[in-house]
Amino acid sequence: MKSKEAFYLSLEPYVHGVVKENKVLLYNTLNKKHLIFINTREVAGLVNRLLQPSNGRVIEITGKQLLQSPVKKFVQQIRRNFMGELFPTSWSEVKPINFLPIPIINESPFTLEDNLYEITIHLNDGVEPSLLPFRNAFYQFLFPIITSENTQSLDIRLVRHLIDEVKYLPLLTINLLGSRIFDHPDVERLMNLLQVKQFRKKIYIPLYQFEPGFLSMIRKNTRMVLLIAFPITHAEIRKLAGIIKEISHKDWVEFNFIVQNSGEVEQSEQLIEDLELHNVYFKPFFNGSNISFFETTVFMTESDIVASKPNQKQILSRYILNENDFGKITLLPDGTVYSNVNEEALGSLRELSIIDLIKKEQNNGRAWKRIRMDEEPCKRCIYHFLCPPVSNYELHLKKFNLCHIEIN
Ligand code: SF4
Repeated sequence: MKSKEAFYLSLEPYVHGVVKENKVLLYNTLNKKHLIFINTREVAGLVNRLLQPSNGRVIEITGKQLLQSPVKKFVQQIRRNFMGELFPTSWSEVKPINFLPIPIINESPFTLEDNLYEITIHLNDGVEPSLLPFRNAFYQFLFPIITSENTQSLDIRLVRHLIDEVKYLPLLTINLLGSRIFDHPDVERLMNLLQVKQFRKKIYIPLYQFEPGFLSMIRKNTRMVLLIAFPITHAEIRKLAGIIKEISHKDWVEFNFIVQNSGEVEQSEQLIEDLELHNVYFKPFFNGSNISFFETTVFMTESDIVASKPNQKQILSRYILNENDFGKITLLPDGTVYSNVNEEALGSLRELSIIDLIKKEQNNGRAWKRIRMDEEPCKRCIYHFLCPPVSNYELHLKKFNLCHIEIN
């Protein structure tokens, strides 16, 4: 290679790149390989130029630059991993360009179908002494609202009105929760109302409240989700064993273990093994003083992050919306609607239609468009598009880097 020769260096359209200071991450969405370059000003400069939209992912470099060791290594590595190519400028009279991987925003008219996938309905809230230690769980994952006084019940007329507005959405999931869901005066009417629609339904109930008769509520497209919190009594374990015997289809029931420490994780694993439970999920609960448990079980390491291997579509969506929250709303017993319960309410279903509330979130809301690259310190981190979208844990803990990655 002559130092006076000139070359085009190109980056493939399916490769995503981030440059932060002198750190560079390149990720190939086809073969899911990633490359990291640290402390290389030359490489950071080249990738910055490659990512600049006006350059069309093709830049000119000189033979002299290619002789520099970091650049030479960089070019070798991106070619070896099918992320980029190098060719003499004599190959083309004009500088070629590549497609830019940018998210396309659909400007078609608003439809509920494109913007609503899941509705969580809290039928009632109230005082449940045994769940009082878990009253903040509601902000972290799907869990009943536990209060220390008063009980509110959702007006069934609001639900009927809501169902009327969304009845044409066959892909909708409806989650039903309550501090005492089956004590709601209109629960049977509600179940019948939901039954005539094709929605996927999930009924969340704490294990200690479960009664065998509830299984008769499980009809087509319905799953009962048992919330299992510790300490668990012998009576509850017997109840679990009874449920397993009684259900004839394993998809009817899901088991959510609410865990606060490694001891509870071990107990859960033992129960899962002994009772041969299927459809099991762990829900780590932050109780205000178990951050070390979160550090070992929830916080991501570099290998967790790169193991997630998102595809091109997932990455592009992470530039514009939060996949965890988008298309989801929550209705509280007083009729208030949230796009995320950690945010301000969108308004009340007593005053606004569901379409108006969703448009409000689209135009001014924060939850559906919360992306990691807007939050500190993630915006300074090369992993921001490989990391999963911001979750309720992060909003509740007011800490966006639930990870073991050091950022300068
Ligand atoms: S700082 Fe944010 S983007 Fe970086 S690894 Fe941690 S969570 Fe992910």
